Amino acid sequence: MGKVLIIGAGGVSNVVVKKCAMNSHVFSEILLASRTKSKCDAIKNQITDSKTIITTAAIDADNTGELIKLIKKFKPELVINVALPYQDLSIMDACLATNVHYLDTANYEPKDIPKFEYKWQWAYKERFKKAGLTAILGCGFDPGVTGVFSAYAMKHYFDEIHYIDILDANGGDHGYPFATNFNPEINIREITANGRYWENENWIETKPLEIKREYNFKEVGKKDAYLLYHEELESLAKNIKGIKRIRFFMTFSQKYITHLNVLQNVGMTSIKPININGVNIQPLHFLQKVLPDPASLGPLTKGKTNIGCIYQGIKDNKPVNYYLYNICDHQQCYREVGSQAISYTTGVPAMIGAKLLIEGKWKKPGVYNVEEFDPDPFMDELNKQGLPWNEDFSPVLVK
Ligand code: NDP
Repeated sequence: MGKVLIIGAGGVSNVVVKKCAMNSHVFSEILLASRTKSKCDAIKNQITDSKTIITTAAIDADNTGELIKLIKKFKPELVINVALPYQDLSIMDACLATNVHYLDTANYEPKDIPKFEYKWQWAYKERFKKAGLTAILGCGFDPGVTGVFSAYAMKHYFDEIHYIDILDANGGDHGYPFATNFNPEINIREITANGRYWENENWIETKPLEIKREYNFKEVGKKDAYLLYHEELESLAKNIKGIKRIRFFMTFSQKYITHLNVLQNVGMTSIKPININGVNIQPLHFLQKVLPDPASLGPLTKGKTNIGCIYQGIKDNKPVNYYLYNICDHQQCYREVGSQAISYTTGVPAMIGAKLLIEGKWKKPGVYNVEEFDPDPFMDELNKQGLPWNEDFSPVLVK
């Protein structure tokens, strides 16, 4: 039925490709293309029992001309971008030039400025609309499922949502003193940036990891959760009408924070190039090379993730509190697709977004964040595709 080009062959791509292959009635053909072709081949070779035809190619996704050539040759209906946020715009440009739909899991970030913002991708809205093409932005878990959860809460349980707290807990242990669960460079840029949340029509800025709350997560236990700026805050503050405050918290162990502090204090998280024997190197790039590859954490990680959103608002003038969350088991993910839960919880929603687009359920010309689509078919798919959700109408609130 659908032909897709998947770009990137890292931890998340491994899950997207395998989950697409498990839905071969929708994904008839996949071209998996990335910078290092051998990584594409390694993923392809693990898929032995699917009707989906999978081929691989090398591509530099920073190069729009190269992308256009590849797309014209393969003629996909959709490009799933699970490379890095730096490639978002070059891939969107190539999609426009070749009349192909687009989906990603992280918003554009310039390589030399650690700052992510939707303005660059939202600026493509009119061009996608005119071309009759759909671009789905941020279709992982957070962003992604957190936006779908918000649309679902709004549609079924609230007249107005006033407060949203997004809570991302990882109770997994991989045995390393320090490792990141997805691309180390992107992950560390996010965590070492200032915190930010939306309150009363304003962005409130905090120092990195300045605000901490303890929360008792179901099946994960008590964890310290730190307030971070996260990209879905920007779109939800715009798309959920009447919102008064929205915050994002992620859990980190004391061991992780101690390592991060040391790395920051010695300058290892900096993206400012330094010259070593005539070669300019970003310390963060070097650090990424010495840290464990997130894709290698799969067989080692034990424990569960619990990611969800607590909503407070009103329905028929009565106050309502509502918590929607997913619990995911690292080892179960590994048994199913050879990955830990962070890549799994990102890759499954990306496959679902692509499936709904190909089926025509999430097709509307323009550039959209996930909360701008009907959440119901996506929520059904989450239950069927390995990320079942739970709800709680009397949650403990975050102070
Ligand atoms: P990885 O670093 O494991 O994989 C990235 C892949 O992209 C690698 O295969 C890399 O190639 C490839 N790549 C990088 N640059 C280029 C380029 N110029 N041309 C072609 N290929 C390129 O990252 P993850 O799989 O962990 O993350 C993938 C994406 O998912 C990221 O954008 C990340 O921010 C996002 N994400 C989203 C989440 C969400 O919930 N929304 C959560 C976690 C991640 P090579 O193998 O040669 O290095």
